[in-house]
Amino acid sequence: MLVAPTVQPFFPPQRVLMGPGPSDVSPQVLAAQAKPTIGHLDPLFVAMMDELKALIQYAFQTTNSMTLAVSAPGSAGMETCFVNLVESGDKVIVCRNGVFGERMRQNVERIGAIAVLVDTEWGEAVDADALELALKAHPDAKFVAFVHAETSTGALSDAKTLCALAKQYDCLTIVDAVTSLGGVELRVDEWGIDAIYAGSQKCLSCVPGLSPVSFSAAAVEKLKARKRPVQSWFLDQSLVMGYWSGEGKRSYHHTAPVNALYALHESLRLLAEEGLENAWQRHQEQHLVLRQGLENLGLKFVVQEDVRLPQLNTVFIPEGVDDAQVRQRLLQDYNLEIGAGLGAFAGKAWRIGLMGYGARRENVSLCLKALSDVLN
Ligand SMILES: *Cc1c(COP(=O)(O)O)cnc(C)c1O
Repeated sequence: MLVAPTVQPFFPPQRVLMGPGPSDVSPQVLAAQAKPTIGHLDPLFVAMMDELKALIQYAFQTTNSMTLAVSAPGSAGMETCFVNLVESGDKVIVCRNGVFGERMRQNVERIGAIAVLVDTEWGEAVDADALELALKAHPDAKFVAFVHAETSTGALSDAKTLCALAKQYDCLTIVDAVTSLGGVELRVDEWGIDAIYAGSQKCLSCVPGLSPVSFSAAAVEKLKARKRPVQSWFLDQSLVMGYWSGEGKRSYHHTAPVNALYALHESLRLLAEEGLENAWQRHQEQHLVLRQGLENLGLKFVVQEDVRLPQLNTVFIPEGVDDAQVRQRLLQDYNLEIGAGLGAFAGKAWRIGLMGYGARRENVSLCLKALSDVLN
């Protein structure tokens, strides 16, 4: 027998989360998660799932019937899109301008498909002209994949233009909207996005661990026409849809994360109540206040103004400043978390998130005050 460890209940501190995610979760969403667990095939739970699907459709601005939340974080949403649609031997044009574009390449290659890379400098938006050259050079390409909001750099790519180009060359599009959903304009149907995935813990300000996903009719066709079953049993959407498809057809696939789904339902309900366009506007307004304050402190933005994400502000760490020490003091003295640099920007930049419930004036003020104190 192992001796039972003596462990006290865990009481996390009340932090202010202004990094690249998870973002601050509102008290209402946390309260929703603490409601009684019921069976995941209970008729009342099934009715909640129908509402949840309508809320995800609203957030994505899509009428796609294959719209659901994958029971796992954004990375699983990414993998869901790739493993369901891309088959071994398929050619995929992967636009890479940061860490998450590189992960797309890895997904493609693990499937045994061919990744054609369109590289853009870190901190810049994906280059539509470079994509068009690649499309011309590879008429056999079947997909274009890109990250709408690159959280590793803070750059926003023009999803509408990139998707229109892909359509022109008969490619399906796979779009990472983990950080963009709820924070900046995103219109899945209008822009012709075929497969999209997001995350619960960024601008939706929900608890981490869920990934809203949506497939267009063309994507569903591709899935149905597969030569071989999807390699991943868990992520195979043709099986999962049996659970989400409604009208009394629910069947057991895996146990849904019941309480986490209550939280997603509440966070999306709050988003619908606010209105998507109002939420986009709020992120932009708070970003402008933060930007002014950061510039007053002498900090310089990594990303050019016209492609800057309001919800993820990347600034260079000033010369002679100790990155880790500053972040540690912010955490210890102000209960404030900001993000470290990732990949090429590790040790060179900070990533200040203004996501969802966190995109509020009081957070911006706290962040500016704390940074000003610590830097001086
Ligand atoms: C956070 C993030 C992911 C991964 O999401 P997880 O929930 O951490 O798995 C993927 N893409 C982008 C752009 C992200 O910001």
